[in-house]
Amino acid sequence: MVDKESIRNQLKTVKYPGFSRDIVSFGLVQDILFEKGVATVKVALTTADVKIPPAIKQSVEQVIGGMDGVDAVDCQIQVQTPKGAPQSSGGQSTRQPFPGVKKIIAVASGKGGVGKSTVAVNLACALNQILDEAGEHDGVGILDCDIYGPSVPMMMGVNGRPEIIEDRIMPPINHRIKVMSMALLVDDSAPVVWRGPMINNAISQFAQHVQWAPLEVLVVDLPPGTGDAQLSLVQTFPVDGAVIVTTPQDVAVNVTRRGAGMFEKVSVPILGVCENMSFLQLPDGSKMQIFGEGGGQRTAQDLNVPLLAQIPLDTTIREGGDRGLPISISYPDSAAAQAFREMARSLLLKLNCNP
Ligand code: ADP
Repeated sequence: MVDKESIRNQLKTVKYPGFSRDIVSFGLVQDILFEKGVATVKVALTTADVKIPPAIKQSVEQVIGGMDGVDAVDCQIQVQTPKGAPQSSGGQSTRQPFPGVKKIIAVASGKGGVGKSTVAVNLACALNQILDEAGEHDGVGILDCDIYGPSVPMMMGVNGRPEIIEDRIMPPINHRIKVMSMALLVDDSAPVVWRGPMINNAISQFAQHVQWAPLEVLVVDLPPGTGDAQLSLVQTFPVDGAVIVTTPQDVAVNVTRRGAGMFEKVSVPILGVCENMSFLQLPDGSKMQIFGEGGGQRTAQDLNVPLLAQIPLDTTIREGGDRGLPISISYPDSAAAQAFREMARSLLLKLNCNP
């Protein structure tokens, strides 16, 4: 017998073009109806790729049309405005699901350990500093989505359970940045299911219950990697642009291509590359290229985007991370802090973000 459930199960065999995940697990199926032999499937997508909607429609019609008892299929695809589409400045106060958040920047990397969270945290502080120069603004927030290694709370010096007021989670504020991480809500001893694939849905849902507004910019620290997990997360946030963090020896061009492909699929522009651990500044003023050189430049060229910053290796960066005091705050005149501010400045320009 055909019913909603059996149709939903069949839809789980329809893959998002180019991905191993299906349209149900990506959360794209909005509604299913079955009446008098007619199956109606409503799908909502965010893509600028004109080939995706007809490809999904065709697969749905094929798969559901092939079910015994289904006479006709009506697949309605609603294509939403791409998240990366230019938006008029100041007019996003009603944007869903983050009303009152004007811009969202995602920070991604091909793999872990390259300093993605360090860059995200310092970028948030640097954005705040640059916005300060421009005058009054709505502030900056950072959302930690790296559930497997949530280091943002430690790096930002926040801990303890966030307060909940009338269904809204109040983000703790330190260094004038609103901070939120699942790690603040879930103990290390939490059931393992909280560390499994369910986590993406959980993150996007809980992020919407955070009292972010008003916010000029929200920095989203993605989990390392560029696979399906990251893609489904990016899809749930109206991301305006992404920054890719690499190291000088990170010549894993394939990884970066995959990353670029991932952002393309959801129409999120890559705003640039940040090379971390670029060099060690020696006392005589020379630079020692401990991890080789050129990884950031090559990645940027490959993606056809600018190299936004080269952040030196600096023990102050690591110590500051461990102590909850980002170098952008503790040593604003250091080479690293200046590089973070340069990057913040160009990102704000690119995003046309004028408080
Ligand atoms: P990821 O988020 O990519 O896994 P992290 O930001 O957690 O990486 O950084 C990994 C470790 O490297 C942390 O201990 C961090 O303090 C340190 N680190 C990151 N960038 C630098 C840097 N430029 N100089 C010194 N230590 C750094």
